[in-house]
Formats: sequence, structure tokens, C-alpha cells
Amino acid sequence: MDQELLDRTLAERGEPSFRALQVWKWAARGARTYEEMTNLPAALRAALAREVPLSSLSFEDESLASDGTQKALLRTHDGRPLEAVLMRYRDGRRSLCLSSQSGCPLSCTFCATGRMKFGRNLTASEILDQALHFRRSEAVNHAVFMGMGEPLLNLDAVLEACERLPDLGIATSNTAVSTVGWIPGIERLAREGRPVRLALSLHAPEDALRSELMPVNERYPLDEVLAACRDWHAARRREVFVEYLMLEGVNDRVEQALALAELVREPRNAFKVNLIPYNPTEAGFEGSSRGAIDAFRSTLESRGVRATVRLTRGRDIDAACGQLAVRAAAA
Ligand code: SAH
Repeated sequence: MDQELLDRTLAERGEPSFRALQVWKWAARGARTYEEMTNLPAALRAALAREVPLSSLSFEDESLASDGTQKALLRTHDGRPLEAVLMRYRDGRRSLCLSSQSGCPLSCTFCATGRMKFGRNLTASEILDQALHFRRSEAVNHAVFMGMGEPLLNLDAVLEACERLPDLGIATSNTAVSTVGWIPGIERLAREGRPVRLALSLHAPEDALRSELMPVNERYPLDEVLAACRDWHAARRREVFVEYLMLEGVNDRVEQALALAELVREPRNAFKVNLIPYNPTEAGFEGSSRGAIDAFRSTLESRGVRATVRLTRGRDIDAACGQLAVRAAAA
């Protein structure tokens, strides 16, 4: 819900300041109507129902993948589209993939979101309303800022949202922010706000290839990005998750695994590599074979670098990593 509108409406009605928190606590526990908020006076509940929509986003569409992954298409009041995803795992994990921007201003060649028109930064309320959309139907316990957009280009709103996620049942240690390597943002994350987890989209072990795949590398080259991650690790004492997309014939050779291992070997256990099977987009890459992915992983491990392969979720509804793009909006 739009927190500013709520605050303003409460102030205009001369309500005590604790009301905003009361409303938020109900919303965070999944309330679907103001009627449920029984510790608010009935007249106030009726007024809020008229004046403050429960969500700042309108709901447009939802798809459900065969693996239980659910994707919602939502729209801001000024017509900007965005998507959010809920992933359900057998062990009970319920993980939200949140968008920080409508579209993305960066243009990573393999990612569908970068092809869509960039809209704008989302507000903290708009980020939280994605989470509340799913929270209204079930309990959730993890969140990753891996939806549309570059969270570190909208860090104030992302940090503000992270302050409130614990009220929904999502611990800060279960919250991760993923970045292309936007150094000023990594530096702020080392010192400011809650100690959320950090994930770095690395994707290539040397600058020339990385710049080709991710133009942002021209601005923030690998060495400098990794140095910022080491500082973050020293400050936060948590491992950095390195995301590495597996593109056949592009970045999946054994020499490239060795080069990656060199980059992230020190300090020991500061980095953990997550190999991501490529999800088809219109970009025209081919994903690496299972054999190539396994060989890449063994090579990393033989050099003392921990590595896992990401489970692909929601591919049949274009809800998987890199597939979020609102088709109508791309036109
Ligand atoms: N802008 C941030 C947050 C988005 S996270 C970032 O890039 O980290 C989305 C993740 O999915 C990133 O690691 C991104 O590189 C990855 N990704 C993009 N396109 C993909 C694709 N087609 N298949 C699999 N992963 C992809």
C-alpha cells in the first residue's frame, strides 16, 4: 500500500501516529481488507477502504507453471508494468523474486528484461506490494531482488523495502540483492541498512567477454567489482553469491572455469558460485549442455571454489531468470 498516502490520510483525519503501524502490521500478515483490521475504529476502517487502496499496484494477470512457480503481472498507478514471481520448493521454502524497476536501463545481451522499454524506479511501497500480493494467499520466507531491474540503481527504495520484509516473515538473512556489479551500490550495502545477502551477476571471467555480454562492465570492470565484493565480505562476514550463466560455446569452457576459479578463490570461502542454466529468450544464445555444466562445476570445485547449479523454475511460463519482460510493454 502507498505508505505516503496512508500517512497523509491518517494525518488529515487527526489519527494518532501509531495507526500507520497498526495498518502495516495487518497488511504484512496478509490482510485482504480493512474490515479485518479489528483494532482500528470501524469509521476509520471504512474511510481507509474508500481513500487508500490496499495495494499501490493493480493486478493484471497471473500464470502458474507446472512446477508450482507463480508469476504475477502487476501495474503501477501510472501504467508501468512489472512482474513478480513466487517459487515454491518441496522443503517448504517460499521464495519471492521481486522487481526493483519497471524494465531495466542496462542492456545485458542475454536478458529479456533489458529489451523491454525502461519505465522507472519502483517505490518501496511498490516493491512491498509485490510481496504482499503473494503474502495474501500464503506464508513466504525468502526474497531475492532478482526480478526486473537493477536494484542498486534504486537502492534507497530497496533498502526501505528490506526494513519491512521481516514483518512479512522474511528474515534479513533470507533476503538477497543481486547486482550486475554497480560498485557505488555495493559500497553502500557494505555499510548501510540491514545485512542482506549479496549476489553478483558475473557471467564471464575476463573483461573483454564480460563487456560484450554486459556493457556495464565497461564502466565497472571485473577487478574493481570483485574488490568491492571483497570489501563487502569483510564488512558483512557473509559469502558473496556469484551468478554465472552457462552459455554454450561462449563462457562454458574448462579454461574459463579455471579463470573464474582464479578470480574468486581468495579469500577462501568468500565467494560461492551458482551456475545458472540459460533460459531461452529472444537473444539467440544456446544454453550449455548438462555435461558442460557439470564439468565446469567440477573444475571449480577441484580449485577449492564451492559451486552449485541453480534449479530452473517457471520456465514454461517465462518466469525464470532473465525471462521477465512484459510483452505488450516491449512493443
Ligand atoms: N540486475 C540484477 C538483478 C536481476 S537478477 C542482476 O543482473 O543481477 C536476474 C539474474 O538472471 C541475473 O543474474 C541475470 O544475469 C540472470 N539472467 C538474465 N538473463 C538470463 C537468462 N536468459 N537465463 C538465465 N539467467 C538469466
